[in-house]
Amino acid sequence: MRKKKQQQTTTLAPGEKVRHCLVCHEEFVSAWSGNRVCNRCRSTAVWKQGA
Ligand SMILES: [Zn+2]
Repeated sequence: MRKKKQQQTTTLAPGEKVRHCLVCHEEFVSAWSGNRVCNRCRSTAVWKQGA
């Protein structure tokens, strides 16, 4: 039997919020209100370059 990873509601610190990444649409914990992209996508920084 395989255990499937379940998505659980993480205990968030004050000010943290679960958002959907604008790039990959995955859920991630945003530490501040202006954070709209998950850390993985932010590290690529592709989203910053408008076009
Ligand atoms: Zn992302």
